[in-house]
Amino acid sequence: MSEKERRDFCIECRKDTEYLLQKRDIVKNIRDKEYTFSITVAVCVECGEEMSIPGLVDKNVREIDEQYRAVEGLVSIEDIEKLMKIYKIGKAPLSLALGFGEVTIPRYLEGQVPSKEYSDVIRAALSSPAYIKQKLTENREKLTDAAYKKAMGAVTSLEGLFSVSEKMLGVIAYVFEKLEEVTPLMLQKLLYFTQGIHFALYGGPIFSEDCRAWVHGPVYHEVYDLFRDFKYNPIDDARFALLEGIADALTDDEKRSVELVVNTFGMYSGKVLELITHNEEPWKEARKGYGDSIPSNVLLSKERIMSYYEAVNQKYRIDTEKGLKTYINDMLDRAS
Ligand SMILES: [Zn+2]
Repeated sequence: MSEKERRDFCIECRKDTEYLLQKRDIVKNIRDKEYTFSITVAVCVECGEEMSIPGLVDKNVREIDEQYRAVEGLVSIEDIEKLMKIYKIGKAPLSLALGFGEVTIPRYLEGQVPSKEYSDVIRAALSSPAYIKQKLTENREKLTDAAYKKAMGAVTSLEGLFSVSEKMLGVIAYVFEKLEEVTPLMLQKLLYFTQGIHFALYGGPIFSEDCRAWVHGPVYHEVYDLFRDFKYNPIDDARFALLEGIADALTDDEKRSVELVVNTFGMYSGKVLELITHNEEPWKEARKGYGDSIPSNVLLSKERIMSYYEAVNQKYRIDTEKGLKTYINDMLDRAS
């Protein structure tokens, strides 16, 4: 239904008339309980009667379903689809894993409304890898080996996601909120710059993890392990569904540091960012004595990152995007 062309045939007026969409409350009985739902109706502007408009009935069925689930605190179909995606599990195996009958989840996906009890089980599974792990273990024998192993693999990788510090997870979540495409190489650099800028602006680290001077620049290995499967491709991860809202744990100062980085460094590819870190003093010092492609695991200390970016801040005023862009351009000139 477009915004401007609201005309259709009115059976009272016996002609095409203009109509208005209005909200109306209706009372319905579901499972012996009375509910008030807000639905959308079309009203003829000439005679004031309700008109029947194609698509409106379907829209109201969806709206009532959503309102009913919200009032009862029941999961939505999208929630169930999310659960299947996160844990890489099909509808029938998920049903069995949760201790339901095999056809229960398939029916929910077709629109049947779950009971409160079953809905709570699904919600618990959505919010905790430990819970679904326990369920998978309990119902191990009902599942095929392949389905069990795949889902357990997903649980393990999720536990990994929550093994980094809360602040690190917040920064990662915020970066992915702000940038469309991020490769693992790019993410490593953005984390490093965020740490450096936060040190320079606020005198302390944004997250507790330490990075090491690997061949392609500073690397936070806990994060490297999380996303190594994506290689040189953008990270596209179903696990991120669980990160929703996690960036809210960051303070305004912390968010500002991330924003400064994504709005400047975030415009470049991982390879270009690598050129920048390769020309920075802390990385060059840590790599002293190692040839270009010789692996090393030398620590890049927080103290050194801080002193370096404090000096950069003195020279470039990196508390502004303009200052950061000047710094980036200078570093790229030096690299060419
Ligand atoms: Zn009419």
